[in-house]
Amino acid sequence: MRTELQSMEEAKQLLQKYYGYPDFREGQRKIVSSVLSGADTLGIMPTGGGKSICYQIPALMLPGLTLVISPLISLMKDQVDALLAAGVSAAYINSTLTGKEVNERIRAAKRGELKLLYVAPERLELDWFREEMKELTISMLAVDEAHCVSQWGHDFRTSYLAITPFVAELPRRPIVAAFTATATPEVMDDMIGLLKLHDPSVFVTGLGRDNLAMSVLRGENKREFVLNYANTHGSQPGIVYAATRKDVDDLYERLRASGIPTGRYHAGLPDQEREENQEAFLYDDIRVMVATNAFGMGIDKSNVRYVIHYNMPKNMEAYVQEAGRAGRDGEPSECILLFSAQDIMTQKFLIEQNPQDETRKHNEYRKLQQMIEYCYSTKCLRWGMLDYFGEEHDHSLCGICSNCRDERELVDATTDAQIIFSCIHRMRERFGVALVSSVLKGSQNKKVLQYSFDQLSTYGMMRRRTEKEISELINVLIAEGYLSLSEGQYPIVKLAPLAIDVLKGKQQVMLRAPETPQTAAAGSSGG
Ligand code: ADP
Ligand code: ZN
Repeated sequence: MRTELQSMEEAKQLLQKYYGYPDFREGQRKIVSSVLSGADTLGIMPTGGGKSICYQIPALMLPGLTLVISPLISLMKDQVDALLAAGVSAAYINSTLTGKEVNERIRAAKRGELKLLYVAPERLELDWFREEMKELTISMLAVDEAHCVSQWGHDFRTSYLAITPFVAELPRRPIVAAFTATATPEVMDDMIGLLKLHDPSVFVTGLGRDNLAMSVLRGENKREFVLNYANTHGSQPGIVYAATRKDVDDLYERLRASGIPTGRYHAGLPDQEREENQEAFLYDDIRVMVATNAFGMGIDKSNVRYVIHYNMPKNMEAYVQEAGRAGRDGEPSECILLFSAQDIMTQKFLIEQNPQDETRKHNEYRKLQQMIEYCYSTKCLRWGMLDYFGEEHDHSLCGICSNCRDERELVDATTDAQIIFSCIHRMRERFGVALVSSVLKGSQNKKVLQYSFDQLSTYGMMRRRTEKEISELINVLIAEGYLSLSEGQYPIVKLAPLAIDVLKGKQQVMLRAPETPQTAAAGSSGG
């Protein structure tokens, strides 16, 4: 038996030999070591974190074959080409091959000539294929993009459910190692449960890539921002994600009109055009790719210098995956999210439009709410992200996110906060942000009058501000944890324990200047 130390020494030599890298990244080392010890392993790493090496190196060291489940044909081909170029015997089997080619590859595997075989999950649904696989020595099953097994994730694929019965049928159970960039608790539970991982070692690493400067910008003229940014960033490749095809087309036309080599990608375009645009982007023939979230899975372009989100994505998982396509080469890159309140409406509309059961809907609203809180938060954005995904981190600031770089002073907003909390309290914590804002504004709208909220002592106490300013302020207080929102399409805003302390005068509220109204409303909060 080799000791763990010897194994890792050998692993490191193989890394040097086949990939030319002097050492593993910290997360990779832990995962490789876990797999080599024979444990089922769940590796969660951001896009670009280096997942493939985590199973490719063990594949070289384990006897027999490693079967890799991979969802995309293009991705499979890229990986196998890279392996072959590095001198590793690998192959893929997918629908682009003829029956003869498929048989040749299976025969090669049976002769023990392959270390890695890539297949799409759909293949595991074919009886004949499963029968063939039973005749091989499969030491490891590596499941790439493992979040696709979960309905809670954003790319659920039914065929991923075929993995577990397939493993159960094999004469000898392989080590099962699953990889993804998605790390929410529900998806993690599903990956462990649905893939039936045996007592797995779970590693969450490297979400906070320190070459990525994260920004959330509110209140920008988005279109101008994008045009400006692309124009001032010379020849650097970038991706602009927009929520709708219409916005993609619009930005695409404008960027091109301003002379920037631009491509576009969305589900409404013919396959061929999409493929051409994708290739052109990979080979730097176009500089900016404007796309919906249909673009990107499996794109291996390492020098993307910026990812701009024209709209807020539906949840943090989607955001981290898309933003994570920037800076995969480790060079400084920017991830900019252009937020507007309209984005919240769009995402709610999309949730409502999509027929699904109540539990899922509920879950989507909850995730959306967390995304909104991220956009309003004033703490270090990297912390916000790591906290969301439950990754442990030390409490040093990243120093490069828009919140860390925010030089506006913190201003005492205690009085305003007290007015808002008091108003919510008086409305018996039964209404949403919009109605609370109307009452504070002193609006005469029907609902306000219907509930006689014009009789409340807090009615109109913020009349000098617009309702939009008031609701922005409330949203900041939600993001800062003073208020909580119930889940659902019409969330109700409630006081969190922190707000009670503020009302009692035991706690101050400090906020960034523009969030704080310039003119304090007249009168006291009346606790
Ligand atoms: P993922 O599948 O997690 O998105 P990849 O496996 O494609 O990431 O790796 C991302 C990039 O990091 C690739 O360009 C890869 O060559 C590089 N990389 C991975 N591991 C190392 C390492 N140990 N040292 C240096 N570069 C690495
Ligand atoms: Zn920061």
